[in-house]
Amino acid sequence: MKEWEVVIGIETHAQLSTQSKIFSGSSTAFGAAPNLQANAVDIALPGVLPVLNKVAVDCAIRFGLAVGAEIAPRSVFARKNYFYPDLPKGYQISQYELPVVLGGQLKIHVGDIEKTVHLTRAHLEEDAGKSLHEQSGHHFQGRSGIDLNRAGTPLLEIVTEPDMRSAAEAVAYARALHALLRWIGICDGNMQEGSFRCDANVSVRRFGQAQLGIRREIKNLNSFRFMQQAIDYEVQWQIATLEDGGGIEQATVLFDPGSGETRAMRTKEDAHDYRYFPDPDLPPLLIDRQWVEQIRSQMPELPNARRERLVADYGLSPYDAKVLTASLELATYYEAAVATAGRANAKTCANWVTVELAARLNKEDHEVGCSPVSARQLGELVARIADGTISTNIARKVFDALWNGDADSADEIIAKQGWHQITDHDALETLIDEVLAGNPGMVTEFRAGKEKAFNALVGQAMKATRGQANPQRVSDLLRKKLA
Ligand code: ADP
Ligand code: MG
Repeated sequence: MKEWEVVIGIETHAQLSTQSKIFSGSSTAFGAAPNLQANAVDIALPGVLPVLNKVAVDCAIRFGLAVGAEIAPRSVFARKNYFYPDLPKGYQISQYELPVVLGGQLKIHVGDIEKTVHLTRAHLEEDAGKSLHEQSGHHFQGRSGIDLNRAGTPLLEIVTEPDMRSAAEAVAYARALHALLRWIGICDGNMQEGSFRCDANVSVRRFGQAQLGIRREIKNLNSFRFMQQAIDYEVQWQIATLEDGGGIEQATVLFDPGSGETRAMRTKEDAHDYRYFPDPDLPPLLIDRQWVEQIRSQMPELPNARRERLVADYGLSPYDAKVLTASLELATYYEAAVATAGRANAKTCANWVTVELAARLNKEDHEVGCSPVSARQLGELVARIADGTISTNIARKVFDALWNGDADSADEIIAKQGWHQITDHDALETLIDEVLAGNPGMVTEFRAGKEKAFNALVGQAMKATRGQANPQRVSDLLRKKLA
């Protein structure tokens, strides 16, 4: 029997897709040489003043609307004071008691089960710089250095209630949030570059116990796989510690992918350690109804609504609809393909997009947004399968040719290669007579009751036409002749 209940709450730092920083005009582009994108505000020269980037606020409002949260009409920036070499001001500008986004929720799916994760809040803040050590590249060779390019990059920190009950739920939440942020276009989601980083707060308690257990916070998980491994390890470690009669101390821990273990980094500081106070350099952030409505009018249809519509409008299975709404680009591609192929072929389009296209994109590491086979081209291809011009097998060859850019349309390739299916009755009859005459052994076996021999005969006919005979007609005619 399972005795322990796992409790997880997640804090996510999402880097917002703005051109410039949250309180200065320097660029947020990734990958520049150290300190080339840090101006007087970012390096905290005395006397400089921060100016809030409106686009960062637009992003926060967009997020709030996407999760059904309240957008605070008045929120306040606060100073979170701590010392670290990559934070030259000595404080981080964040929001504390009055964040810009309050509440909200996100639906997650684990297997067939749907669950709602409640959000506590989301607030705007600035990122810190980075310490670079010898091994971090060719800069600062042999020394440690500070790169302030990232200092002042806008972040939205999104905090959940302690609603998740397993590593699988935590990962499902992180994936759903990641997809949503990309869908609404406020975060590029690039986890290698640190655009999306999660902290998982993990505790365990005996089933039936009302009070939450003491949590440890696993910092900076930058892949879903690491999140799963880190939580799995942490949970078994906490249970083993408690069953041994030990206690859990509230702490911040780091996951080491090499050993697969979590290790305490520091005992956790409390909010009062940070001496938060309202930043006197920034006025309260006031957001009126008009601003919110203007952002609302630009919101795309959200993933869940899109999923339901794909099921309702095209008769897709919930599974297909889920796969096709993995990203806005994919959903858009799919609907464009259906617009070309015709609604009656929506299901075939779904198969082609989720199987053939997805596999190829994955293999060649392409995003659907720059697929070599366009939605129109795929739609035309599907239409040719549907009207019997080509078989599915030939269609795969046409798809390859389109992928390689051999021609602009399926029709062109089919005509050029002479790949039309042979559906002509007389031609097929001649073909089948030849196959029967050429394979007397199979015919005898079939007559002796071996159904396999029938399939072998169909195979011979397909082979003789290099796959171009219509398999259904071959099969029908063959049965008739053998009867
Ligand atoms: P802090 O900002 O100091 O990390 P918060 O109280 O804001 O602390 O909580 C941060 C996150 O930890 C939230 O996602 C919250 O749901 C989660 N959390 C709080 N208590 C627990 C607990 N006992 N077990 C698991 N998660 C928790
Ligand atoms: Mg925290």
